[in-house]
Amino acid sequence: MKRKDFLKKGLIAAAATPAILSSCKNEAVETDAPNIITNKKYKWRMVTTWPPNFPVLGEAANLLSEWVSKMSGGRLEIKVYGAGELVPPFEAFEAVAQGIAEMGCGAPYYWVGKSPAAVFFAAVPFGMNAQQLTAWMVSGGGLELWKEVYEPFNLIPFLGGNSGVQMGGWFNKEINTVDDLKGLKMRIPGLGGKALEKAGGAAMTVAGGEIYTNLERGVIDATEWVGPYHDYKMGFPKVAKYYYNPGWHEVGTQLEFFATKSTYEALPPDLQEIILSASMRIQTWMLAEFDVQNAIYLQKIIEEGKTEIRQFSKPVLDQLKIYTEEAIQELIGSDPLANKVYKSYRAFQTKAAAWSKVTEQAYYDKVMR
Ligand code: CA
Repeated sequence: MKRKDFLKKGLIAAAATPAILSSCKNEAVETDAPNIITNKKYKWRMVTTWPPNFPVLGEAANLLSEWVSKMSGGRLEIKVYGAGELVPPFEAFEAVAQGIAEMGCGAPYYWVGKSPAAVFFAAVPFGMNAQQLTAWMVSGGGLELWKEVYEPFNLIPFLGGNSGVQMGGWFNKEINTVDDLKGLKMRIPGLGGKALEKAGGAAMTVAGGEIYTNLERGVIDATEWVGPYHDYKMGFPKVAKYYYNPGWHEVGTQLEFFATKSTYEALPPDLQEIILSASMRIQTWMLAEFDVQNAIYLQKIIEEGKTEIRQFSKPVLDQLKIYTEEAIQELIGSDPLANKVYKSYRAFQTKAAAWSKVTEQAYYDKVMR
């Protein structure tokens, strides 16, 4: 459309708006609504990778269930099961694929063993932040690729919130140079762990409930977890001297819901849309909740004065970035789908970074102190 036509059309629309509004009265009108089948009720089960009612992440599963029930007038009820209540946490993907449960909730990077491409829909060290990743998913083709990756498993994915930038972790050793990572025993999963190993450290797997005592007894020198809110509740300020930032390994971890594809597609169209709308609402809610709680708990940690807040140096981050790229290449290997997703992810990240540089970054650097 030419600029002139665009302006003309815009002005007509603006002029017409009050007339349209004034003709709408707030009255309940009965319609045929042929797509709404009210006599059929659906009962679904949602399995999650989180302990029951786990702060923010488990709460999001409960909220989605509540909102879907309200929006559908009780026609779709989703009962949420915490990790281990119906199936063990890391069997959620398989359980929904096989229809043992109709829906699941987790983080896509848990399923890299099923499809290495899954990592790009969760968190890539030095990757996109929450805002950029959401843009790629919603308007940049990311969600379509995600659907393609889950389709062979008879699954359909939905956005399930984002943590925002996490913290770099709790350390009992100072990290001033790359050499300080040598021999460092740190609980850090995924690609971040692979990068640490390339730097000479030891990436350890420690169950959530054992991290505190392992850190206290020096079995591990460091651990990452989430951010101030979750980390404080784990008691880490009592057993670690330094709290490093930023969380280079998880710069905006995307969470997910997924449903048995054939079961979802058999739902009436309005119920399908209700699930989609609830998922998008969770995407907004979770980031807000993380930002609110993390800000409160960071302040608490600072005021209690037991921990020193530190920042990784640029040479340390630059080197970890190089190791991360090697680890990504090894993970995606010769998997054509993973390579296709990687290409799209990186192309979008490059464009988004150039835009962020003159907007977000300029604002943070020059204005927000
Ligand atoms: Ca983490």
